Amino acid sequence: MLGSLAKWLRIFGYDTFYPDATLNDDMVLQVAQHEKRTLISRDKELLFRAKKILIPVLDIHTTNLTEQLHQVLKEIPLDENTILTRCTLCNTPLHSLEKEAIKDKVPEKVYQTRNEFWVCPACSKYYWKGTHYENMIEKINTLRQNEPS
Ligand SMILES: [Zn+2]
Repeated sequence: MLGSLAKWLRIFGYDTFYPDATLNDDMVLQVAQHEKRTLISRDKELLFRAKKILIPVLDIHTTNLTEQLHQVLKEIPLDENTILTRCTLCNTPLHSLEKEAIKDKVPEKVYQTRNEFWVCPACSKYYWKGTHYENMIEKINTLRQNEPS
């Protein structure tokens, strides 16, 4: 239900487990407990069950993504150094790559104009500092400037 939020938390560098459709509530609670995670949810019943077994919870009150991000940033401080260090698809920390290593792996124009590249060792998705990256940094900055007190 909170897939966009999960993706953004990964962009920020939060270690974010997002359960796929095969996991039921019991399994989600098990993972949260076993891996000492904070449960971020809008599901009242799930939150109630988590609290009962002392899993830290973050009760999301809104369907608005920006407000959701504000809520998380307020509760769980952002580490400046982890921004854009995780794969947004699978949560794995990225490895940086030498420029030579990515020739033929990314579009020619990207290769010619960009100098910093990363790869996800788990799903082989390539990342680079480009327009998309700059847009994300801008969104992060805007979010942080407009944090409600
Ligand atoms: Zn990945």
